[in-house]
Amino acid sequence: MSVPRSQIARNLARIRGEIVDAARRARRDPGEVGLVAVTKSVGVEEIVSLLQLGITDIAESRVQQLVARAAEVDDLLARRAGKGLASPRWHLVGHLQRNKAKVALGVAAMIHSVDSLRLAEELNSRASQDGRTIDVLLQVNCSQERQKHGCAVGAGMHLAELITTLRSLRLVGLMTMAPLSGDPERARPAFTRLRELFEEMRHEKVGGEAFRHLSMGMSQDYPVAVEEGATILRIGSALFE
Ligand SMILES: *Cc1c(COP(=O)(O)O)cnc(C)c1O
Repeated sequence: MSVPRSQIARNLARIRGEIVDAARRARRDPGEVGLVAVTKSVGVEEIVSLLQLGITDIAESRVQQLVARAAEVDDLLARRAGKGLASPRWHLVGHLQRNKAKVALGVAAMIHSVDSLRLAEELNSRASQDGRTIDVLLQVNCSQERQKHGCAVGAGMHLAELITTLRSLRLVGLMTMAPLSGDPERARPAFTRLRELFEEMRHEKVGGEAFRHLSMGMSQDYPVAVEEGATILRIGSALFE
């Protein structure tokens, strides 16, 4: 069963309220905080509802699903309800294997999960073959959990500098995933660490003007992420509960 649009609208209003409250606590402008809807747990109906509600940044965590969803949504928009709706701007937020780089580039406007030079180089050469540039974020493992993807904090600066030499990639910021736990405060140290690394990089002029995003904060911890400086929240379940 799909989640009704009215329910998504209510959730969205609540989330936006929380974002405004958290921004106020941190003396930030809530307008600096963007929301990417992660739709891996729902269907295309919900994606169309999001578009109708004005949410056009849509994310998937797996490449295959990203590509399949993009095709389905295109179809729906061409055929019916969607007349006049903006198309989604697709984000890939999950781990990307090098052999799927080309497929990901076919759809994604932003890839949040670049975490190695080899992957960055593969994306760069594929993108340059297609004569385009792609916005990427460097994923950093700020929680020192072994199973997590992301480069080590200590390797971040050097890797970011190397990525900015790749002409078909535009490094627009950093991404992290906090440890999952019931307590949002347990996420805070990872967010703080990412922001500190980000500030260090800005100080070193890594990436220039384009380098301005912190993609951090999910359903369970986004208010804390806003307090710590997030500019992109990746929210799934809280939109569809
Ligand atoms: C699923 C996912 C999210 C969203 O998680 P929720 O807890 O549903 O908000 C964000 N980022 C990544 C990388 C994900 O895989």
